[in-house]
Amino acid sequence: MATKLLLTLAICRLIVTVGFTFNPNDLLLLGLNGKLSVAPADLQSASVDFGGVYRAEPMAVLHPATSEDVARLVKAAYDSARGFTVSARGHGHSINGQAMTTNGVVVQMSGGGGSKNKMLTISEKFMYADVWGGELWIDVLTSTLEYGLAPKSWTDYLYLTVGGTLSNAGISGQAFNHGPQISNVHELDVVTGKGELLTCSEKENSELFQAVLGGLGQFGIITRARIALEQAPQRVRWIRVLYSNFSTFTQDQEYLISLHGKPASQKFDYVEGFVIVDEGLINNWRSSFFSPSNPVKVSSLKAEGGVLYCLEITKNYHLSNADTIDQEIEILLKKLNYIPASEFTTDLPYVDFLDRVHKAELKLRSKGLWEVPHPWLNLFVPKSRIAEFDKGVFKGILGNKTSGPILIYPMNKNKWDDRSSVVTPEEDVFYLVAFLRSALENGDETQTLDYLSNQNYEILKFCEDEKINVKQYLPHYDNQREWRDHFGEKYWTRFQQRKLEFDPRHILATGQKIFMPSF
Ligand code: FAD
Repeated sequence: MATKLLLTLAICRLIVTVGFTFNPNDLLLLGLNGKLSVAPADLQSASVDFGGVYRAEPMAVLHPATSEDVARLVKAAYDSARGFTVSARGHGHSINGQAMTTNGVVVQMSGGGGSKNKMLTISEKFMYADVWGGELWIDVLTSTLEYGLAPKSWTDYLYLTVGGTLSNAGISGQAFNHGPQISNVHELDVVTGKGELLTCSEKENSELFQAVLGGLGQFGIITRARIALEQAPQRVRWIRVLYSNFSTFTQDQEYLISLHGKPASQKFDYVEGFVIVDEGLINNWRSSFFSPSNPVKVSSLKAEGGVLYCLEITKNYHLSNADTIDQEIEILLKKLNYIPASEFTTDLPYVDFLDRVHKAELKLRSKGLWEVPHPWLNLFVPKSRIAEFDKGVFKGILGNKTSGPILIYPMNKNKWDDRSSVVTPEEDVFYLVAFLRSALENGDETQTLDYLSNQNYEILKFCEDEKINVKQYLPHYDNQREWRDHFGEKYWTRFQQRKLEFDPRHILATGQKIFMPSF
């Protein structure tokens, strides 16, 4: 009863605030199977994200039970005389408020209850899983493993939703081989900004399909995705080696990703890497891998300009072919030019490898270091300019403190579909460089949010001044002019046309700040 009263009050507030003439009872009369909530706890959790920098409170939060619930809500927003905004929220792991909306409704896609959670079905014959758009990747993995199957392309961290990562790209060390997660989807169910629930694929509603993949939530809400699967490996050999010379490091990374067309036995399954600029980081949350009984002394490795580079590679295997794995790895490692004494190898179950960052999360949580501001910056850097980037940023702007891991790994552009909405540099190979930093208000000056945000700005300014044509991954801009620059004229025109077709009233994902609502 109290909740119903609160809900009615909130809807009245919604009307006063945005002044639309939508009948307040209509939201209650939508016949939703899920729960429309104005409980303070729901509003609070929809107001924040992993970035911890932005805050925006919605008027209500919908916990949908079905795709039809999502469609009814968006249709109500679209049909009402003055409209209201609707933002899908996956697991809220954005950095800059991308899943937030004020004066509107957040559709909480992940979490608790409802028939949507029973949607996960698996076809062993055709090797795919049909999953709810708010499903966490860890749950997709657990379910598919029951059939001895697993998705092919991953993110480093699995507590992200299918809809959230497909709205960006979804990348990790498998991307050089399988492409990003958006290249491993057969079909989607999408609620467009007009409230239509459509199935789309390469063959059916193909423009919507391509628009939504990497579409930053602008064209529709993904309620179901059909994900490509492969036979799941059982174990992983996980290897790290160090380099003091950047060009040797990148030559080896580029060589390894050039093997993507080779048979599985002649390539690694995962290629990533990271930059080590301060000794402290050798034992940070990404690199706890190096065992305390076998410490690495960065200073003893004669890092050029004080910077070391770590190549991280894995080889998956089944116990049935365990006897050939050592030889396959040996042949591959022989081609590389890392510091000979710097090889670290471990062997673990496939699921433990994929879920590796969660272990680090639990450690950080226990120390109160997870829920802190995260001024992250992710860039795609063209291969031809990566050496200048190294000189100017890793050996320049960063100084000798980083406040978090810096990932660096190359990908093959031919594994990305140019028809999707993501933009990447115009070169065959480009690098992800990810500055995954945590700000500490009580730390020293170089760890504060202001300091790290300014440093991100300096990095972007450096690229602009040097005309290094980087593209932001998980992009964040405050105005449309910057978004236009991000896309470039050709892709901006396409992005705008898609918006006009699929969300003409600019109802969806306004937290991205690309289009202002037209009401
Ligand atoms: P949210 O943050 O909730 O939403 C992101 C955007 O997508 C919003 O605009 C939202 O409106 C929209 N959206 C959400 N759900 C849907 C849907 N169903 N349909 C349409 N639009 C939707 N990314 C990588 O690619 N690789 C990584 O290895 C990686 N590691 C990460 C590790 C951590 C610890 C964190 C915090 C993030 C990482 N990310 C990585 C980034 C992550 O992929 C994005 O932040 C992603 O958006 C988060 O998914 P989410 O489910 O939390 O989405």
